[in-house]
Amino acid sequence: MDSVVMLKRSALSLVVIAFLSGCSSKKVADAPKNENKSAQRELVVLAGPAACGKGTVANKAKDILGFITVSTGDVLRQNVGQETDLGKKAKPIMEKGELVPDTLINDMVQDWLIQQATGTQPIILDGYPRTIGQAQALIAMLKDPKNAAYHLRVVRFTVSEKEVVDRIAYRVVCSNKVCQKVYSLKSLPPKVAGICDVCGGKLIKRKDDTEEVVRKRYTDYMKTEAEILAFFKSQGVEITEISAAQPMDQVFAAFKTAVIPA
Ligand SMILES: [Zn+2]
Repeated sequence: MDSVVMLKRSALSLVVIAFLSGCSSKKVADAPKNENKSAQRELVVLAGPAACGKGTVANKAKDILGFITVSTGDVLRQNVGQETDLGKKAKPIMEKGELVPDTLINDMVQDWLIQQATGTQPIILDGYPRTIGQAQALIAMLKDPKNAAYHLRVVRFTVSEKEVVDRIAYRVVCSNKVCQKVYSLKSLPPKVAGICDVCGGKLIKRKDDTEEVVRKRYTDYMKTEAEILAFFKSQGVEITEISAAQPMDQVFAAFKTAVIPA
């Protein structure tokens, strides 16, 4: 019994791996027919520590490449706003200022993916998965036939701890809670000093942007990231690494090459 289950499982993961690698390689004349091939839709997970520039890449991908970006905050707000069953469960937790559990977030992401499954725009999952549990859930949801059109890939931005510390020393954010746009006094200054370009809010330094906190956050992040990426690798997910130490134009060009296969 167990061996049958195991056989089934390994066969399934082989199919998934073949499916994942199949769409990134160039078309082969005798490739097996795959009805979904034309409908395949890029689902991109961005990995990288705070201040690696992934937020800027996500915004550019949206504006220039026509990506949809979705964060766990977006799906939470959507569910609460539409008073879905999941939203009703999440609302009291959020009102108490507590963290919404992974299982609820995963279910919301799953619903969102299924709703979006017939669309064609490529997607960036912003800040998801954040934990190994979420990563496992994502792989499981992509095995649902309803999500067969998605092609998951990871783009990982690498940046040294020192570079992150340097970048955060220059970082200011909009104090308007609904805006929170991030600026760099070095590479992305506001048009008017101290004022948010988008909403006119006052720009402040985050209290927790101290060197000590930044270093601790970096170490913790890298540990979780390593765990998540090892898991994705074991599932045959393609991972592209891009050095985030380059100027943003080059980072974005590398991103474009990675997500839009020739
Ligand atoms: Zn603002």
